[in-house]
Amino acid sequence: MHRQRCTRIIATLGPSSSDVEIIKKLSDAGADVFRINMSHGSHPEIASIHAAIRDVESITGRSIGILADLQGPKLRVGVFSEGKAELVRGDEFTLDMDSKAGDKTRVCLPHPEIFQAAERGTDLLLDDGKIRLNIKKVEDKKIITEVTVGGIISNRKGVNVPNVILPLAALTEKDKKDLTFVLELGVDWIGISFVQRPEDVQEAKDIIGHRAAVLAKLEKPAALYALDEIIAISDAVMVARGDMGVELPMEEVPAKQKKIIRHARRAGKPVVVATQMLESMISSPVPTRAEVSDVANAVFDGTDAIMLSAESAAGKYPVEAVSFMDRIARKVEQEPSYRKAQSKEETRLEPTSADALSAAAKQVATTLNASVIVTYTTSGSTALRAARERPKTPLLVLTPNQNTARRLSLVWGLNSVHTKDATNFQDMIDKACQICVKYNFAKQRDRIVITAGMPFGSPGKTNVLRIARIQKYHVE
Ligand code: PEP
Repeated sequence: MHRQRCTRIIATLGPSSSDVEIIKKLSDAGADVFRINMSHGSHPEIASIHAAIRDVESITGRSIGILADLQGPKLRVGVFSEGKAELVRGDEFTLDMDSKAGDKTRVCLPHPEIFQAAERGTDLLLDDGKIRLNIKKVEDKKIITEVTVGGIISNRKGVNVPNVILPLAALTEKDKKDLTFVLELGVDWIGISFVQRPEDVQEAKDIIGHRAAVLAKLEKPAALYALDEIIAISDAVMVARGDMGVELPMEEVPAKQKKIIRHARRAGKPVVVATQMLESMISSPVPTRAEVSDVANAVFDGTDAIMLSAESAAGKYPVEAVSFMDRIARKVEQEPSYRKAQSKEETRLEPTSADALSAAAKQVATTLNASVIVTYTTSGSTALRAARERPKTPLLVLTPNQNTARRLSLVWGLNSVHTKDATNFQDMIDKACQICVKYNFAKQRDRIVITAGMPFGSPGKTNVLRIARIQKYHVE
């Protein structure tokens, strides 16, 4: 159960990876969290994938996180009479609310919100930015544009409106139905797509409550203007480079990735780097050198998790893609420069007992060359603060809450075991020592560092740091 790496791997499931056998292989190869993309698949299909993941969890004994990624307000054009149309540079092209099939002069855009927000001079991007339209005139239910980059557009292709805050609700009617469904299934993380403002995350949190944690996908330029507020209100964030690379000039994405990771780490919120990380492995058993470099750089940046999308969901080599990510992350983490970069990051302590004890545990464990830092936690918040310190010493989380163990599988360095809470001080030590031995975190005579909250059995603040030594009776 002890991964030989701290960076976590998220694998998206799909047609290439939906039964127990393949999900077990992905888990054995290194996937810590599985993502279900709610843009695809019916509810019965999603329920079957969910059940398969939980089966794998029972087989492996490792807590697995499940991320249900909501589609969000993805804007799309309507259909064309011939299924597609060629838009020519310099031509006029109109978007309107008429549901009639389109042609090379017009198509339906069934999103009244865009008509409200559209302004002359603004660019509209179609089909992942491959086609570009510049708005010349906005009428009541018509946007008249000039094609500035032409190409072939087909039915229901996506529309992006960069740099405009659209008056769109964060959750569509489809998202709300999907949300009710996946919360009933019992997923651990909910991904919110196209977040524009902190209120979008709050709206989702108001519905979700404590039933799952919320991950905000950062892909709109507007979200980056309110980055710290969005990080503060979210349980985790994702650098969603796919849509971000459409909404922003692509060359701006690497710097945004670094900035988002820096800000999330400072706040102690997990951060995920996603999209096209090993894209060529959709059809090739080995990645390109540039892709290896991209994954390695995200790890060097200090991200909590790296994600596979189509590579594991629809590609020919899903297990190989996870194995490659695992190999790359492990290699980077062995580099002295990785450790140096992690400890150099500025993580200002907050005046809380969790921060004081997490920092102290790191220091004590280093000084004593302890084998492991054990953190007792109910909600997981102390474990997040411990991970934020990026200690060299492995981190073991003991929690009486299965949902906490599952959620924390997304977080840098945390290895979680679901166990009963300690009943008294001696039990706290014995339980920690026995579990450390059982899962090969420590052996007889090793020192371990424990943090916990007293009184035991009631969720409370971490207020104890104890150094313990593994005794003979812990090993027997
Ligand atoms: C992205 O845009 O990078 C992303 C992760 O979102 P999706 O896969 O839902 O497009």
